[in-house]
Amino acid sequence: MECKKHNTGEDQGCHGKHNETDNKLNDSTEDITLANRMAQIDHKIMVLSGKGGVGKSTVAVNIAAALAMQGKQVGILDVDLHGPSIPTLLHLNGKPVKTGDEGINPVDFMEGIKVMSIGFFMPQQDKAVIWRGPMKINVIKQLLTEVNWGHLDYLVIDFPPGTGDEPLSVAQMIPDADGAVIVTTPQDLSLIDVRKSIDFCKQLKVPVLGVIENMSGLVCPHCGKGVDVFKRGGGEKMAGEMRVPFLGRIPIEPLIVEASDNGKPFVHQYGKTPAAKAFAKVVKLILNNTENRKGVIRHADL
Ligand code: ADP
Repeated sequence: MECKKHNTGEDQGCHGKHNETDNKLNDSTEDITLANRMAQIDHKIMVLSGKGGVGKSTVAVNIAAALAMQGKQVGILDVDLHGPSIPTLLHLNGKPVKTGDEGINPVDFMEGIKVMSIGFFMPQQDKAVIWRGPMKINVIKQLLTEVNWGHLDYLVIDFPPGTGDEPLSVAQMIPDADGAVIVTTPQDLSLIDVRKSIDFCKQLKVPVLGVIENMSGLVCPHCGKGVDVFKRGGGEKMAGEMRVPFLGRIPIEPLIVEASDNGKPFVHQYGKTPAAKAFAKVVKLILNNTENRKGVIRHADL
């Protein structure tokens, strides 16, 4: 009887109640799946920046590659819903995503690296994604719930710049994330916004693993002298003022652009360069800061 009423739409209240119960059940099943998926991943690192163009995605890819070169099983998750760069940086655009019994399979990149990006589900790269907050939150939850990473040592999550729905949702959905690596360039314009990223982490009780000052000085290929194109040292000074760790400086290195454009992680291809050595130092600090820390649940007071 009741169901007939649903079909005719006569009793919206009853219909609503059923939907509410169904939604609650779906939510709790989804939450359990999400928790089970995340339990298989030892460490989750969020890569944030205040501004775009400071090298956040490049840093995310190279941290992941450097971890994989240390023998870690690594995943890269790209939740930059409006401008996913990871498929482009790794030349994975157009790769078919396959679904198996256990969920959506991430795309294998190089030895030890699996990749999932919202970009894999957008057939037309030049189409703008126009989604409001709730839609974004659903998509992120689906990605976290349905991607079958299996066991990973590290999941590196790349976000759009700023402190919007994407980092907020992930911080809330993964309460045991190890923390955030925050990327800035040395000039004031980037540093002002990066302070907001640090404050965002503080408010959400996401530990700040440290600040990376990217594009920090250029060694002239002709005379060998250093040129501070975007100034130098601002990231370290700001990290000190905000009382968060400083992970290191990555210089401007034209080979980083070349490697990105060729779809190869720079640290893998040009391991002997000063910039790759700087990445190695950063990753050593991240390993030191995270290896002893597993599954600590945060409670943000929002
Ligand atoms: P974001 O994710 O912050 O928007 P990207 O990672 O997409 O920035 O990097 C923007 C551009 O800067 C890319 O072309 C990348 O190759 C380049 N880049 C990043 N870091 C460096 C660096 N240290 N030296 C030279 N080029 C860099």
